[in-house]
Amino acid sequence: MNKKVDVIVVGGGACGSFSAMTAAKLGAEVIVCEEHKEIGVPEHCAGHISISGLKRLELSLPKKVVENEIKGAIFYSPSGKEFTIRCSSPVTYVINRQLLDKHLATLAEEAGAQYLLESRAESFLLDSNFVKGVTIRRRGVKETLMSSLVIDAEGCSSVLLKKAGLQTLDRSMVVHAIEAEVDQVKDIDGDMVEVYLGRKYAPDFFVWVIPKRDGSAKIGLAAKTGDPREYLHRFMHNHP
Ligand SMILES: Cc1cc2nc3c(=O)[nH]c(=O)nc-3n(C[C@H](O)[C@H](O)[C@H](O)COP(=O)(O)OP(=O)(O)OC[C@H]3O[C@@H](n4cnc5c(N)ncnc54)[C@H](O)[C@@H]3O)c2cc1C
Repeated sequence: MNKKVDVIVVGGGACGSFSAMTAAKLGAEVIVCEEHKEIGVPEHCAGHISISGLKRLELSLPKKVVENEIKGAIFYSPSGKEFTIRCSSPVTYVINRQLLDKHLATLAEEAGAQYLLESRAESFLLDSNFVKGVTIRRRGVKETLMSSLVIDAEGCSSVLLKKAGLQTLDRSMVVHAIEAEVDQVKDIDGDMVEVYLGRKYAPDFFVWVIPKRDGSAKIGLAAKTGDPREYLHRFMHNHP
């Protein structure tokens, strides 16, 4: 395919599909390149998102996407002190991130965007320092896509930006994260998330415990230094 469209979106994650939907609704011809063969897979997200944020985006979610509604959080300090913020009604959703990404991609397709799966954007096409499109590798074959606008929604990898010599994500802000889904978690409040602070749990970040309606919980953490797997293992063994 050597084609020219109005907008190419690199990445079929939440931001990519939302941008694609918005551009398509405005009448643009849009192509989304997603390197994986299935939207939303693999998943890298705990899926804890603000309800007011969704309202601002004018997004309503199908029931199957929402795994729980959360009213607040319990914070645990490094010395074990507890601090609770509880609202009278839900303030956040726990969503299934795979299903959210699929839902947004469906909305974008319904608005007219075209998805190319297994299509990794490899570099920007530059003409006199202007981005005129991307080169992609689609199911092993190299192709060129031209466009008036390229939206880089490749997430934190910033590969295209780096290749083009543009400003990338500040790596000092990057943390390494890990998460597990655990069944039959006891002694947690079903509509509150738990946050554990302190170097012994997760240096420079925190541990989260996010309950789902079915009695399971997403337990994860991020840290700037050390091995997140070790921290998670330790946390799950010594959960206070
Ligand atoms: C463990 C963990 C837990 C998290 N928990 C939360 C949370 O609870 N709440 C929250 O708000 N945020 C959370 N986040 C952050 C959240 O996941 C990201 O902010 C969000 O996914 C960013 O969305 P995105 O669409 O920009 O990028 P991504 O979701 O990373 O999507 C990028 C897409 O682009 C594709 N792609 C990348 N490069 C290319 C390329 N060159 N060509 C084609 N396709 C490409 C990828 O395959 C992917 O599908 C968490 C992150 C992690 C790692």
